[in-house]
Amino acid sequence: MFCFQCEQTAGGTACTKVGVCGKDEDIQSLQDILMFGLKGIAAYAYHARELGHKDEQVDAFMHEAMFATLTNVDFDLNRHLELVLKAGEMNLRVMEMLDKAHTSTFGNPTPATVPSGTRAGPGIVVTGHDLLDLQELLKQTEGKGINVYTHGEMLPAHGYPELRKFKHLVGNYGTAWQNQKREFDEFSGAILVTTNCVMIPKDSYKDRLFTCGIAGVSGAKHIQNRDFSDVIEKALSQPPLPENPQGTLSTGFHYSAVLGLADKVIEAVKAGKIRHFFFIGGCDGAKPGRNYFTELAEKVPEDCVILTAACGKYRLNARDYGAIDGIPRLIDMGQCNDCYSAIKIATALAEAFNCGVNDLPLSLAVSWYEQKAVAILLTLLHLGIKNIKLGPSLPAFVSPNVLNVLVDKYNIKPIGNVDEDLAEMLK
Ligand code: SF4
Repeated sequence: MFCFQCEQTAGGTACTKVGVCGKDEDIQSLQDILMFGLKGIAAYAYHARELGHKDEQVDAFMHEAMFATLTNVDFDLNRHLELVLKAGEMNLRVMEMLDKAHTSTFGNPTPATVPSGTRAGPGIVVTGHDLLDLQELLKQTEGKGINVYTHGEMLPAHGYPELRKFKHLVGNYGTAWQNQKREFDEFSGAILVTTNCVMIPKDSYKDRLFTCGIAGVSGAKHIQNRDFSDVIEKALSQPPLPENPQGTLSTGFHYSAVLGLADKVIEAVKAGKIRHFFFIGGCDGAKPGRNYFTELAEKVPEDCVILTAACGKYRLNARDYGAIDGIPRLIDMGQCNDCYSAIKIATALAEAFNCGVNDLPLSLAVSWYEQKAVAILLTLLHLGIKNIKLGPSLPAFVSPNVLNVLVDKYNIKPIGNVDEDLAEMLK
């Protein structure tokens, strides 16, 4: 990295500091956290803007926060901490705005049971987060004999009335992003990537993979202006997919749907039928240690409810968890930005029980991978939510002193032994 202070490579021979010249590692750590958070905020703001929604306050904060990371502009640790927490506040605003953008365009999601696997015939699988891309593709493929499948973070699309009304949106294929190479290799149809997370494609399917919007991969065709003719042509020229049903998945538990069950939930908690709520989710990834989240969900006692969101859900959503008095034990709220629904539900429960969110029988085990997860974590900290278990490891860009602040103030802990963590959460 080039240092603008001593005008050479940071950490080079004439550099007396470790890392970035003139900044201590705590300032550097907070600036890194801020920058990663801003990237997450930018992603959500981009999707909302595509749907015609903007927020002047969020935009102004982006400028302020970027400016604050300039060389020699601010060395104050507390001001940096404040900015980092403000990023969490702005991310809450932007998640709320994106929720409004989605629900006003595609309707309020309702619970949906989604077939997994493939149906006989030509197909297109759509991955990423951009629901508008999916809607346009569904319009352009209508009546063409092509089945459209969601993949990864697109699964929640099935909850939205304006998307699931298309009969050729037939189900979900595959799991989270890190399995793309195997799953796309085995999918004989066309593949459309709308956002991250995309893996560099194998040669075996590169000619069937298309990117659009913000996503791009060298060697794969990039679609302009949501004209999906090339994707459709490719799907029709490929060998048909086999009939290969693989069970069902559930999604679509937007906060408006869950709050519709609020009376039942409160009654079940009061009657001791629901002992505890767990949020288990976040970004998935290939790093070892993520089986923790699968094992934790498996070991959650029968009288507890699991909330989930983002692609980390694929670590746990292949099982049937049953229901408690008609309340599903696994509640998938949607994409990572739909953690907004989890916040709305937690806040409503706290109001109903006349307590703070930290006093609820609720524990959070969050898997993180990329920048949106950082933005969401900052939102949870902004809301003062404590005792979060974070994994598969703590972010390397958090310096020891910054970590101490997070532990002291919020009691954030790395995930550990499943049985010990579960016992602690249930205490
Ligand atoms: S939840 Fe995170 S890791 Fe998963 S696809 Fe979305 S951005 Fe990528």
